[in-house]
Amino acid sequence: MNKRKLISFDLDSTLVDPTYTSFVWEFGIPQLYAKKHSISLPEATSIVKAEYERIGDSALEWYDIAYWFEYFELPGKWENLLEEHRDKIRPFPEVKEVMVDLAQHYDLIVTSNAAREFVEVELKAAEIEGYFVRVFSATSDFGQVKKAPQFYQHICEIMRRNPAHVIHVGDHYEFDYLVPKSLGIEAYYLDRDGKRPQDSFAVTDLREFAGLLKNHQKRWVKRLIGND
Ligand SMILES: [Mg+2]
Repeated sequence: MNKRKLISFDLDSTLVDPTYTSFVWEFGIPQLYAKKHSISLPEATSIVKAEYERIGDSALEWYDIAYWFEYFELPGKWENLLEEHRDKIRPFPEVKEVMVDLAQHYDLIVTSNAAREFVEVELKAAEIEGYFVRVFSATSDFGQVKKAPQFYQHICEIMRRNPAHVIHVGDHYEFDYLVPKSLGIEAYYLDRDGKRPQDSFAVTDLREFAGLLKNHQKRWVKRLIGND
């Protein structure tokens, strides 16, 4: 089996700036609710947020924009809301260059817990969807709200890779770092703001991540030819 290694990327706050998703949930939906009920935006925001909280982020509905449109009986289509604000979707500055580089040597995938509707709009608007061989949404594809061990196990099975041949990077310390690492995946914690104490597998951006992978590769080759 001579398969290329797989690199799995988290989406929000890893490849794409999270402004867009926050905007849709915290401004777009309240704005429609305010219009429908002829109330002020702050009033609508507090009602909408209280409803989000009541459902909570451990329920699948929390992530499901179609559910919220129906629940609040909002006018129009949720697809239009996602499209309307797509100008707020931005990849982080180093993302394209790093994808071009890594796609030459690895198979790249996206593994997000956002719903597929969001993932697709974000990748398209950020103009990076062409670099990925497959895109996974924990909520839409597996009915899981968090990237639990089973999520990564499913992905290894579907992509037919041993965890040792998978690399994952993302900005959530538990679900992008500790969980994949516990399965034997080579995990990197992306710490863009330097909030947590650095450990040897924390990187501050994806350029540094790509650099570390190259160094590992070089050391491995050196060891193979007996130079280390
Ligand atoms: Mg993230």
